[in-house]
Amino acid sequence: MLATERVPSAAQPDVAIAADALPGFVSPDSLLAPLQVFRQLPLLRILSSYVPQTFWQRDTNDLPAASAAYREKLRDFSDRHLRPHALTLDQQFSECAHSVPQPAAIDTALCEAGRAGLLSDLLPWPLGCTPWARYRHSLVWQQSLRTEELARADGGLMLLLSAHNLGLAPILFSGNWQVIKQVVLPAFRACEQGEPQLFAFAITEPGAGSDAEEGHVAAHNKPELVAHPAPGGWRLRGRKVFISGGDRARWVVVLAALAGEGYPSWTAFLVDTLQPGFVRVRNEHKMGMRASAATELEFCDCFVPDARVLGGLRNGWALSRATLNFSRLPVASMAVGFAQAATDIATDHACRQMLGGRPLIHYQHMQLGIADLQAATASIRALVWEYARAWTPWQAKASIAKFQATDQAQQVIERAMDLCGEMGLTHAMGLEKIFRDNRLTRIFEGTNQINRLSVIEDQQREFLDRIRRLDPGDSRSSNHPQAYCSMHVISRGKI
Ligand SMILES: Cc1cc2nc3c(=O)[nH]c(=O)nc-3n(C[C@H](O)[C@H](O)[C@H](O)COP(=O)(O)OP(=O)(O)OC[C@H]3O[C@@H](n4cnc5c(N)ncnc54)[C@H](O)[C@@H]3O)c2cc1C
Repeated sequence: MLATERVPSAAQPDVAIAADALPGFVSPDSLLAPLQVFRQLPLLRILSSYVPQTFWQRDTNDLPAASAAYREKLRDFSDRHLRPHALTLDQQFSECAHSVPQPAAIDTALCEAGRAGLLSDLLPWPLGCTPWARYRHSLVWQQSLRTEELARADGGLMLLLSAHNLGLAPILFSGNWQVIKQVVLPAFRACEQGEPQLFAFAITEPGAGSDAEEGHVAAHNKPELVAHPAPGGWRLRGRKVFISGGDRARWVVVLAALAGEGYPSWTAFLVDTLQPGFVRVRNEHKMGMRASAATELEFCDCFVPDARVLGGLRNGWALSRATLNFSRLPVASMAVGFAQAATDIATDHACRQMLGGRPLIHYQHMQLGIADLQAATASIRALVWEYARAWTPWQAKASIAKFQATDQAQQVIERAMDLCGEMGLTHAMGLEKIFRDNRLTRIFEGTNQINRLSVIEDQQREFLDRIRRLDPGDSRSSNHPQAYCSMHVISRGKI
């Protein structure tokens, strides 16, 4: 018998099993149930919301009205336009990378996203389509809300939509009004009319991934994409790799070193992909988020006019770092969305699957497992929301949220797979896809190891000060004979 034939979705618990309480609990209608006891006293009734609500509804209700409405809109959009295509698109690209023509489902999802304003929501109305009421809270937080809901429905299409905003961010940070007026605003209007014009952000080079993001050893590395001066502008020569949405982008923000100078001269150029010399070489065949291509781009003397240099010459690092600080929290939210999706699938499975004539959720082991999944997901969501509320994202916090959420989500998904047994390994259930999708978040926007180093980098000055302040006579200094003795005692377990 095939595993899929054993999906017990149609199985109905018998009357005895569908009793009004799970074994070990009083009925939710009992006067002793937690939600009912509060009805007894008027003050408690007012203070506590005893209306049965899902976690999602409770979290949404706690948001300011404009953000709550946004979250509801995002869920509705994702369930209607992303989720139905998630498994099909993933399977379609399981044996090969993207090629032309691409599935119509991707075009349709992009058009719908454009019409819904999801491709023009980085600017307030009337420039973009974000209502001013949402600006009571940081843009990063709004992006985090958005990314979580999209990721919960489908990692591939979510990345495609997120890569667009990643490409827009450095343009907006540059404050180049001419470019915003001539390029960004017309692109927004086209998107809203259902004719998407996408943006992408290209920093990674064949020999520089982490270096390109963090610059740890960039000072000694040789840039592979170089801008050569030309009359009225610059000619770009070289390659970029793994560029999300690079297969479809109409505009690409490209970081390039100036000829004769190294990485420190990095400058951001806005490349019109219709220009001669811009080549989409190939798409990677990758393990997850398959509806979004990771593209190798080649620049063969591709011309960029002076007016499309963003933020001035040699200011590329500033724009790149600001962009990554802005985008790492939403990457953490991708993981929250994946963890939530895995939790939902496992919960649904536990209620449907029968074991020994009873639904799995009747077993306490299962209840404990589901509670753990919910707790782990809620804790990374709380971390991301807390850090994303700040208007000025700080690298260390963005990095902590990124590696903590993406690492923890991987554990949540794996645990959800445990709870679903063999069904968790089937493509139809969707868990193994989520497992593969989340794995990518631990690599891009800086590997999680690099993000850990960023936390230390931000506190370098403080750490150096501590070292400088160290009194050689301080008994807590490890090279002090007395300190050595006490450490020795500790290590031998005598304290
Ligand atoms: C799906 C996907 C989408 C992507 N989208 C984009 C995009 O849109 N735009 C873009 O520009 N890039 C994109 N990237 C590239 C991504 O940002 C890089 O893959 C990432 O920065 C890691 O670089 P790398 O793969 O070259 O790894 P490397 O830098 O080669 O790292 C290899 C290993 O060495 C470790 N390491 C590296 N340097 C140090 C150090 N100094 N100290 C200690 N350990 C170190 C790393 O942690 C890692 O474990 C994407 C990648 C993926 C997988």
